[in-house]
Amino acid sequence: MPGNYDSVMAVLPIRIFGDPVLRERGRPVTDFGPDLAALVDDMVETMYAASGAGLAAPQVGVLQRLFVYDVGEGPEVVCNPELSDFAGTWTYEEGCLSLPGVYVEIERPREVTCRFQDVDGNSREVRAEDLLGRVFQHETDHCDGVWFIDRADKEHRREALREFRQRFGDGTTQWLPDPSDGKRVRADVTL
Ligand SMILES: [Zn+2]
Repeated sequence: MPGNYDSVMAVLPIRIFGDPVLRERGRPVTDFGPDLAALVDDMVETMYAASGAGLAAPQVGVLQRLFVYDVGEGPEVVCNPELSDFAGTWTYEEGCLSLPGVYVEIERPREVTCRFQDVDGNSREVRAEDLLGRVFQHETDHCDGVWFIDRADKEHRREALREFRQRFGDGTTQWLPDPSDGKRVRADVTL
C-alpha cells in the first residue's frame, strides 16, 4: 500500500566492527522518495530497540551517507552531512552500537556546524555542541567508513581493541537488538 510504511517497520540487524561495510565510504543520498522514508523508519526503530542515541546507515549494511539520532527531543534524520567550523575540545566517553558494551575516551571538537538535507531533500544547517556535536561527528564518521576508535589516542585504542577481541573475537559480525532484553548499552553515550 503506497504511502503506508508503518505496518512494516522492522528492527534491523546491526553490523559489528570487522564487517567490511563499516570501513567503506557511503554513497550520497539522491533519492528522497518513499524507499528512503521506509529505511529511516526502520533505522529509528532499530536505534530505539538497541537503546542507542544515534545510528548510521552503514551500521545496518546500507552504504549511504545518512544517519538518525535522538538526543532526547525525538528522532531526527540527517542525509549527506558535511561538517565545518569546528571549535573547542571535549573529552568524552563514547560507545558505538557496532561495538556494543565497549566505551572509549575520545577527544573531539566540542562544537560543529552540520550542513545536510532532511528526509525530503531540503537543505538544513545546525550548529551543535556537546552531545549533539558528538553525535554529528561520530555518525558522519560512520558515513565515511571511519571507526570511532581511530579517533582515540594510542593507549585507549589498544585497550578498546583488546576488549573488542574478547567480546567478538569469535567472528560475530552482527547483532539483532531486542527491546525485551532490557538495555544492553549505555543509552546516553552509544552512537
Ligand atoms: Zn557508532
